[in-house]
Amino acid sequence: MKFFKIMEDSHQDFIGELRQKISLSNMPPPAAKIAERELDVLARISPSSAEYTIGLTYIDYLVSLPWNKKTEDNLDLARAERILNENHYGLNTIKERIMEHLAVKVLMMNRKARLLVVDDEEIARKNLAHVLRKEDYDVTTAADGERALRELEASEFDVVLADLRMGRIDGMELLDRIRIRHSETRVIMVTGFATVPSAIEAVQKGAFHYIAKPFKLDEVRDAVKRALEKRTLRANTKGSVLCFAGPPGTGKTSLGRSIARALGRKFTRIALGGLKDEADIRGHRRTYVGAKPGRVIEEIRRIESANPVIMLDELDKIGRDFKGDPGSALLEVLDPEQNRAFTDHYLDVPFDLSSVMFILTANVLDTVPAPLRDRMEVIEFTGYTQEEKTRIASRFLCPKQIGEKGLSAGRVAFDDEAVLKIIQEYTREAGIRNLERKIASVCRKIAKESVERQGGLLFVRITPDEIERYLGRKKYHFEVIEGKDRIGVATGLVRTESGGDIIFVEAAKMKGTKELIITGSLGDVMRESAQAALSYVRSNAAVFGIPEDFFEHHDIHIHVPSGAIQKDGPSAGLTILIALVSLLTGRPARREVAMTGEITLTGRILPVGAIREKVLAARRAKVKTVVVPARNREDVEELSDEIKKDVELRLADSIAEVVDTVLV
Ligand code: ADP
Repeated sequence: MKFFKIMEDSHQDFIGELRQKISLSNMPPPAAKIAERELDVLARISPSSAEYTIGLTYIDYLVSLPWNKKTEDNLDLARAERILNENHYGLNTIKERIMEHLAVKVLMMNRKARLLVVDDEEIARKNLAHVLRKEDYDVTTAADGERALRELEASEFDVVLADLRMGRIDGMELLDRIRIRHSETRVIMVTGFATVPSAIEAVQKGAFHYIAKPFKLDEVRDAVKRALEKRTLRANTKGSVLCFAGPPGTGKTSLGRSIARALGRKFTRIALGGLKDEADIRGHRRTYVGAKPGRVIEEIRRIESANPVIMLDELDKIGRDFKGDPGSALLEVLDPEQNRAFTDHYLDVPFDLSSVMFILTANVLDTVPAPLRDRMEVIEFTGYTQEEKTRIASRFLCPKQIGEKGLSAGRVAFDDEAVLKIIQEYTREAGIRNLERKIASVCRKIAKESVERQGGLLFVRITPDEIERYLGRKKYHFEVIEGKDRIGVATGLVRTESGGDIIFVEAAKMKGTKELIITGSLGDVMRESAQAALSYVRSNAAVFGIPEDFFEHHDIHIHVPSGAIQKDGPSAGLTILIALVSLLTGRPARREVAMTGEITLTGRILPVGAIREKVLAARRAKVKTVVVPARNREDVEELSDEIKKDVELRLADSIAEVVDTVLV
């Protein structure tokens, strides 16, 4: 008996401790209430039951969340800019847009709300102003309607609290004028008992709210707070979330990190591509022992801050075999109208996500649902030129890797030619992720050698020859210049998730019955392009000198090698067409001429996207000439000289022009 008494006592002590933890945890009242209620249940049930474990874990979770724990923002924009520059070469327009975004955010988040109190009774005016100043608002007062209007002309106010009955211009008239000239400003009517009906009329005419004298302080505070909430919502809704879109390895993540550092906030990433169902975002209901909150709440708890920078990676990868609607789940997290009271299914009480700064990243934006895209401010990241890569490597990647591998900067030096060799022969990418890996790998090997050699290495200079020693034989060949011009093989440029890429479209003919065979992991749109290309060639057989009955007795096979890469989009139409014409006319296609363009059945060439990425890919592959639809002229003109170096860009209007440019 006594034993159970001790058990019981210590159980009650434990419950008491938890109760104290709840009250110390700074939870908002609704959460505290739920936690208390849950605790009451625990006090009554057996500690060995499953419900007890579930309840205990839950309370523990609530207590450990950083409800109000926020890092203080560093709002020094000059410092922020310095930090962005410190770790990133170039990217000037991107940095500028980020700075603008930060400036607006910082202003919005930190501007004290401005209130105007209008009352002809001095005591009432002063009282109200005093109460509101204590709430940390920036309060101006005016003794009558005329003066109020002058203040309103001079500067912007978020909320006006106006007495209904005043001298010449009374509250009602003030309201009318504000509605016309300052539509963003909210008006709260302050009214004596006798004029309540007029106050109600004022609300019908567009006042935000009214409070009757003598007012309760809570009522005033609450009305002002609600009026202001609407203000921040409006300012925040559109484009409030940054989205970094572009190929891998172009600096999206590391800029996100720098933004967090600049603001003095904590930083974390969530890979959306790995999420399998809505509960990963919204949390699991608390019905079984292993139930968990969603990733956003989990991360916030892990890094112990309610206002971190959270990078949601791979927005475009979400959705493939995702259970439920990822778009709407994400909107709940991201949308300022909803995320103020984000309710994770596990928590079951709202958690305010409005001070989290979300940054999304994606390789391409085609698959992102429109409602989500509306909320984002998209910043495009593009691939780097070879020259940019060399500069980034020598200024950032090499010093970083040399340091990280325990080598000293003065003793290891990469020649520019060596870096260029890695770029050209060991990597093929729009960004610099693999480049960094290869440099890391060289540094690791040097570190190993220096440990093995007694006395350490004196000085290592990495030349192109050394690269081969460290990294083995080159990984990539220049298929364009190393191969021969062939009949039925044309060089094309496509956009992929990893930037731009070069493809070789192959066409073959064989005895058969008019069949078109298409292989090589092509998407539906690309298959249709192939069909359109064939139809065009057939309907213009005479022009190309192809015997009329040729198609009656032949099958055509179109193949695009590198089957592992999913390829789609209409921009390969032109390349497929040229491969076919080459095949059927017997004229070899120049390998070093690459093309991109959509075709119509009437032989027009339509403009396509991602010209920059494609031209970069062409240069990487050492293509000499790139054929671009004439209607992409503007995109071509926007390209910097560095990108256009070594490639000739030809704008083409008609298929006939392209045929003569490409076919020998
Ligand atoms: P992403 O998130 O776009 O895939 P990362 O941010 O991970 O790319 O970048 C890959 C690597 O390249 C990182 O080490 C990053 O610091 C570096 N990097 C990318 N762009 C730049 C740049 N402009 N200047 C310096 N380093 C860069």
